[in-house]
Amino acid sequence: MRPLVAHIDLDALRHNYQLAQRCAPQSRAVAVIKADAYGHGALACARALADDAPAFAVASLEEALVLRRGGINIPIVLLEGIFSADELAQVDAHRLWMAVHSRWQLEALLAFTPKAPIPIWLKVDSGMHRLGFAPAEIDAVWHALSAAPQVGELHLMSHFATADAAASEHYDRQLACVRELARRLDAPLSLANSPATLAHAETHGAFNRPGVMLYGSDPLEQANAASGALEPVMTLRAEIIALRDIGPDEPVGYGGRFRAAAPTRIAVVAAGYGDGYDRHAADGTPVLVNGQRAALAGKVSMDMLTVDVSGIDDVRIGSEVVLWGRAENGAVLSIDEVASHCDTISYTLLTGVLPRVPRRYH
Ligand code: PLP
Repeated sequence: MRPLVAHIDLDALRHNYQLAQRCAPQSRAVAVIKADAYGHGALACARALADDAPAFAVASLEEALVLRRGGINIPIVLLEGIFSADELAQVDAHRLWMAVHSRWQLEALLAFTPKAPIPIWLKVDSGMHRLGFAPAEIDAVWHALSAAPQVGELHLMSHFATADAAASEHYDRQLACVRELARRLDAPLSLANSPATLAHAETHGAFNRPGVMLYGSDPLEQANAASGALEPVMTLRAEIIALRDIGPDEPVGYGGRFRAAAPTRIAVVAAGYGDGYDRHAADGTPVLVNGQRAALAGKVSMDMLTVDVSGIDDVRIGSEVVLWGRAENGAVLSIDEVASHCDTISYTLLTGVLPRVPRRYH
């Protein structure tokens, strides 16, 4: 078998979930497991958290149905609600909760007769200008939903654009907007994503919505004590499949981007962009070889990447290469550090691991 596996540590997932709960003891943490649990496998992650989480959050009916078919019976919130009115029958049949962010969704809901009232999260656009009703519309929509027999428990939700920043006027404006609505409507709230869960207690409402922190990535611009306690969940582990020694000024890989400054030992590793490893990774992107830090040298290929292993102990064919996560010797390479070398964020790396990489659960 090609030696590339994404190891998923379900104890670490549970640890990070408990941390999200401890950060916000008055709130309940709805675990965001959309996009196949950020690439970790939604069903396996849901099963690992189902005894602790009050609900799961996903992006679509299809994602919710994967969980229901897999035997997950706790509430599931559709963060974007329905995409067409005919999905309401399934929302009802599978006892899903849903966001309502647009007028057409509101009208479809009010024209529908469910078997049981549907819990609704009314979404306000507090300033991100992506989804949600304008603040000036919220009172009327809230009252319409409150009076509707189709509607079960009603929450007000919003999403922050800059909760990860150390200081942000944008965040302050969004918070002020939501607070004013919540005061007027006396509405239970769902506001906090991971950075707000970790660093903004003032956002903690009835339900928080942590996502990326559950998988061990620190979303904060400036780490804090809580984010420092996160554990990596995914370890992307490969092996060395070839070794060669090159002389000074010899190029490596496509375009010859990397040139050795001195005699250099190059290891070829069984992982590439065809597996989801980011082709934008710059020379110098860290990896762990036998648990020791080494640096990417040369452009990432479809099935391989190349690493400068000069100075690494006991390097041979079959040596362990961790692209992010925890090595066998316990050393950790944070996905956030790797992402910074790829000019991206952990979310894209995690959701980008392709199906040809087997997931192994521990
Ligand atoms: N809530 C909503 C509406 C989202 O779209 C997301 C993710 O994008 C989350 C919560 C979770 O965000 P994070 O992964 O930053 O915690």
